[in-house]
Amino acid sequence: MLSFWEKNSLLQYDYLIIGAGIVGLSAAASLIEKNKAQKILVIERSLFPTGASTKNAGFACFGSVTELLSDLQKMSEKSVQELVVQRWNGLQKLQKRLGEKNIGLLNHGGYELIAEKETDCLQHISKVNELLEPIFQDKVFEQRDDLIKPFGFNQEKVKHLIYNRFESQIDTGAMMVSLLNYVQQKGVRVLTGCEAVQFEENREKVFVKVKNPLESKQSIVFKANKLLICTNAFTSSLLPDIDLKPGRGQVLVTKPIEQLPFKGVFHYDEGFYYFRNYGKRIIFGGGRNLDFKGEETTKIETTTQIIDHLKDQLKEVIIPQLDFEVDHQWAGIMAFGDNKQPIFKVLSPNIAIGVRLGGMGVAIGSELGDKLAGLF
Ligand SMILES: Cc1cc2nc3c(=O)[nH]c(=O)nc-3n(C[C@H](O)[C@H](O)[C@H](O)COP(=O)(O)OP(=O)(O)OC[C@H]3O[C@@H](n4cnc5c(N)ncnc54)[C@H](O)[C@@H]3O)c2cc1C
Repeated sequence: MLSFWEKNSLLQYDYLIIGAGIVGLSAAASLIEKNKAQKILVIERSLFPTGASTKNAGFACFGSVTELLSDLQKMSEKSVQELVVQRWNGLQKLQKRLGEKNIGLLNHGGYELIAEKETDCLQHISKVNELLEPIFQDKVFEQRDDLIKPFGFNQEKVKHLIYNRFESQIDTGAMMVSLLNYVQQKGVRVLTGCEAVQFEENREKVFVKVKNPLESKQSIVFKANKLLICTNAFTSSLLPDIDLKPGRGQVLVTKPIEQLPFKGVFHYDEGFYYFRNYGKRIIFGGGRNLDFKGEETTKIETTTQIIDHLKDQLKEVIIPQLDFEVDHQWAGIMAFGDNKQPIFKVLSPNIAIGVRLGGMGVAIGSELGDKLAGLF
């Protein structure tokens, strides 16, 4: 049962944002930067943001050569360029807003491992460079096969290496803590353990019903002038007809490996596998392509099939000459659709949605949040 005071002071806002991932928090940041007097509430169903933003691998990336070539088969050159621009602008925005140190940004570059069957892509590096030249004012990709041996990769499996000096890595945990601190210090209220179950609107207001953790039969209804829905892979519980599919990503981290011979972020097989160093550890994720149907889930749990496969890939491809121990493993949930563009839509004069971030949401999250904040 709510008190008069609670009803008076805690239930009414200018903006209500559902979802405290990178998109929801970035939208809150952009709104409060524009007008510090606004009352903004972000609600998050779990104790921390619990979808993709605190679970990812921390690649500050915008697409590898094989990914971009594959995109070019389905999309126009202009659309591919636009996608890269969004990702690059998003990364710049994140860096500028929170500061390089606070997000643990390190620029050791990025690399794509090329197998025998993909060798064809090397002929198209210059085409991709030409496409990206107007964005970076420089050549983005270059072949660095000379590094395969010093990096210790299995030379039978890794035939070529493509280097991208614009790719960096971040510390995902530090980034999300900084983003939360940033909005809270500016006066945004973030309530966790607060799950939205339904929303309604009339001409002036939006009403968002949330579960009351203490009194399950009585929900609490927040009122706001505007509502932003930033629930990514979990959106269908609020909007059942939304056009997106969840896609689970499983990740492991090794214990520190003293002789670890590489630094940077690495991808292979069109981005289905990704690994990076974190100090002397390896963070390695992927393998969703082994079981697309099974991984189309919002269950935040790992499976033996995929984690064992990742361990095999470590042994066979990445560090065939080194021993390692897995320290921890986890899963997070992404959202995918028929194309790689996020869903960014005004649903009514007072409600908008920004979801379906795919596998590069660290890059586009700030940009999408900013676009949402600019809508009303
Ligand atoms: C394993 C993995 C690795 C990845 N690696 C990278 C990478 O290296 N680089 C990169 O750029 N991207 C990566 N991504 C993708 C990136 O993390 C996502 O695209 C991005 O975090 C999506 O942000 P979001 O805010 O849209 O969604 P989320 O982070 O999922 O946030 C949505 C939030 O909404 C909350 N929520 C949902 N429903 C409700 C409700 N009804 N009420 C209240 N709250 C609700 C959820 O709990 C969640 O916290 C990876 C993702 C995964 C899973």
